[in-house]
Amino acid sequence: MHKKIIFEARVNEYAPRTSNPNIPYTADEIAEAAVAARSAGAAILHYHARTADGGATNTVEANAEIIRKVRAATDLLILPTLGFISNDTSAKNRIDTVVALASDPATKPDIAPIDTGSANLEIWDPESGEFGNPERLYINTTESLIHYARRLAETGVKPKLVTWSVGFTRRAMALMDAGLVKGPAYFLLHLTGGRYITGHPPTEAGLMAHLAFLPDDRPIEWTVNCLGGNLLGIASTICRLGGHMAIGIGDYPYRELGTPRNADVISRAVDIAQKVGRDPATPAEAREILQLDGK
Ligand code: ZN
Repeated sequence: MHKKIIFEARVNEYAPRTSNPNIPYTADEIAEAAVAARSAGAAILHYHARTADGGATNTVEANAEIIRKVRAATDLLILPTLGFISNDTSAKNRIDTVVALASDPATKPDIAPIDTGSANLEIWDPESGEFGNPERLYINTTESLIHYARRLAETGVKPKLVTWSVGFTRRAMALMDAGLVKGPAYFLLHLTGGRYITGHPPTEAGLMAHLAFLPDDRPIEWTVNCLGGNLLGIASTICRLGGHMAIGIGDYPYRELGTPRNADVISRAVDIAQKVGRDPATPAEAREILQLDGK
């Protein structure tokens, strides 16, 4: 286990400001949230490009503007999205924005996500008994995953292997065994709470079920997030077991804390980590732990 723990700030996703008014949309707002998150202990910035009114966009230009502004203000490692919502015409094309950004060192992302399986992304409301988005499918064919892994290897962008359940984890390990992803691999155990029922729940049992299938004898660094639920409840367990944390108001508004900023939520998580003896990694330390430069 590393004494240092990597905090990934998940600042906005596609969350609306009606959930928390501090959700950043514009490049300036994302950069401001990034600076505060860095001060609170984050080493990685995960953001989604948004339009000024909060819509989804994933153009090279929008991402480049954000990355330039964030890099001018902080040394955070940059981790954009592949933009499923804004581009579901062809799964394979989802990597193109990251590849284009990587052609210029000034806008090259440090890390990019690969979700290692397909999923139903509906919303279940137990109170009304109704499904929202009942038609929504998140398709990641294995052909697409191989394509993403090869393109990222060519560009030198580190893949983050996002696993929503044990089957995704097994496929992620197969990508490693096939030589498509080099160790140390960065795994995100993507828990889902509340009305999101696709992943394991944000409970000790949900986490342990993931970890039971993550072998000790592989070069894997794992982090945990929770879409639609409070991750702080199992933060202490994650820290004690050697995991890293990916947290922010993009995944969940944390209204239990009022109307927190991303930095406020990260501060809470850092406090929990420090209570079990782990300090936040700087971006340079995270780069070392994840061997981003292929060292
Ligand atoms: Zn995201």
